[in-house]
Amino acid sequence: MSSEITSLITFIESNFTGFSSMPGDSAAFILLIAFVVLAALEFSFPKRRLPVKQLRQSYQTNAGLFIFNSLIISASVTPLLMVADRYSGRGLLSYVEGSAWKALLSFLLLDLLLYCWHRISHSFDSLWMFHKVHHNDPYLNVSTAFRLHIVELLIITVLKSSYIVLLGVDKTMVLTNETLLTLFVMFHHSNISFRGEKRLGQAIIAPYLHRAHHSTERSEHDSNYGAVFSIWDRLFGTFTEREPLEIGIKNSSPQTVLGLVKFGFTPANPAPVPAYEPDLNVNAMIAEASSQSRKTCFYTWKISFATGWKRGVNRLVYGDRPGRRSQLYKSYMLAVSSISFIRNGKYHEIIERFCCSAYYPLYRRC
Ligand SMILES: [Zn+2]
Repeated sequence: MSSEITSLITFIESNFTGFSSMPGDSAAFILLIAFVVLAALEFSFPKRRLPVKQLRQSYQTNAGLFIFNSLIISASVTPLLMVADRYSGRGLLSYVEGSAWKALLSFLLLDLLLYCWHRISHSFDSLWMFHKVHHNDPYLNVSTAFRLHIVELLIITVLKSSYIVLLGVDKTMVLTNETLLTLFVMFHHSNISFRGEKRLGQAIIAPYLHRAHHSTERSEHDSNYGAVFSIWDRLFGTFTEREPLEIGIKNSSPQTVLGLVKFGFTPANPAPVPAYEPDLNVNAMIAEASSQSRKTCFYTWKISFATGWKRGVNRLVYGDRPGRRSQLYKSYMLAVSSISFIRNGKYHEIIERFCCSAYYPLYRRC
């Protein structure tokens, strides 16, 4: 077993080192070729037949937005390379032995970072405002990968820069990661389908998984947040396999470059349908948690009565005004339900509940 792992590492090391020594020009060339190949595949074997005129408009707008963004933040990779040049070798990766492990770890963590960012972009109105620009393309195709609002791109660049500093990722690794990431993002936006796609979806975000993410239905687009690996969605309970009826966002929205830049600063309207409705299982868990909580409260009351500080303890637990729960009581309830959620493996429910209590009404899912 250990010899198999060693040979796998040697294989990755030899191949990865070769790939990571590529200059920026080669990376751009690879991406351009991949774009042309995917566009040709979409044209020859489309998953959905898209009207030619609208598809042309989508290509033009996405290319225009890419150029506009690149003019402001020079193609987004350059600032990352500058950060890497300055901070490489000083971060957490310096404790890891072997260049293959470093490369694998840096790519996996980058993918996890993007999963988290994507998920919170769907959770907070203030971030969805910019992210909805990416979702408003009604004709999903390879060029949709480049439909990003400049503010979102700036935030992503800051996040990636912090990750480079924290891990100490070097320049070649940054360039390789960015190239691979762009390849995967172009691939999952493509309007194609092929045999074995579902099997591939077990590990990688395949086009059919990302198509569900671009559904107009909130219940469907709040899933499959991954960029490269689908393991994060499986792990955090956001994985879905559905074929959406419609792509894009509800209500009409602009489809021109300047219209989209402006659209990003417009708050989401109308208010989204609340997606969070506890299912039967969750209700059972809450009931269990609150019964435990009641028992503990009764016990506290009994002790406090017996020892004579009933009023003080009651005020601490229930707050000053009758009928209103104190912050302590609410935190206690959250902690007790969290134990129940952990026991039942519903980790994401804890985050949902925490965000609902702490960030309501900013949090979209409440
Ligand atoms: Zn999204």
